Amino acid sequence: MTAPIPILMYHQVDVPPPKGTPMRGLVVSPAAFARQMAMLRALGFTGLSMQHLLPYLTGQKTGRVFGITFDDGYENNLRCALPVLQRFGFSSTCYVVADRVGQRNDWDRERGVPQVPLMTAAQLQAWVDAGQEIGAHTRTHQDLAKLQLAEQRREIVGARLVLDALVRQPGGVRNFCYPYGGFDKGAVQCVREAGYGTATTTIRGRVHRLSDSDLLTLPRVLVSRTTSCAHLALKCLTRYEDRRGARVSGT
Ligand SMILES: [Zn+2]
Repeated sequence: MTAPIPILMYHQVDVPPPKGTPMRGLVVSPAAFARQMAMLRALGFTGLSMQHLLPYLTGQKTGRVFGITFDDGYENNLRCALPVLQRFGFSSTCYVVADRVGQRNDWDRERGVPQVPLMTAAQLQAWVDAGQEIGAHTRTHQDLAKLQLAEQRREIVGARLVLDALVRQPGGVRNFCYPYGGFDKGAVQCVREAGYGTATTTIRGRVHRLSDSDLLTLPRVLVSRTTSCAHLALKCLTRYEDRRGARVSGT
């Protein structure tokens, strides 16, 4: 691997809800998303799903690439992000909460986060058939660091089984993302046993040279509603984000 690789972390792509709405920052407008993809393309980057990014992460391939991930499986990813991804010929990974397919983000309800639709099985299939990837984000969106090993296993191994039964994807579901970025040794071990090739966290930073175990605790670059193109370029091209990640994990 030559240059550090940024893996972008998005949640919703849609018209942001009114001011004061909890977690409003995680809704990126379709226009901003399009500008960000255009900017990265202009810099010579290709956006890839985790499965397509893997050979770059392991050094088998080299090139100017970045990862695109969407957490939770929102229907607005299909409606608002997919047309943009297709325009640029980019692939991406959407991390799906297996037991909430076709439902809403009920794990956020107590925090007052607006309840919006998650993709149905048919919509997930349309996402995959359009050249995008689905990954697993547990069965019920639990913080794995707070669970016993048996429950971790149920959430991590089970998510793959449920999703593989719902959606036809070449190779099946092979990539994972920890809800709330929560993980511990047991969770990582379950991810390995379940056969996932990569797992992403909310640790800030770009991916530098890796050992195999690092593939199951990958850092990402958060893109929020207020992330400007200039700011995103800084996060992707410089050590800006890596330094912040180091500071966070050091405290
Ligand atoms: Zn999530």
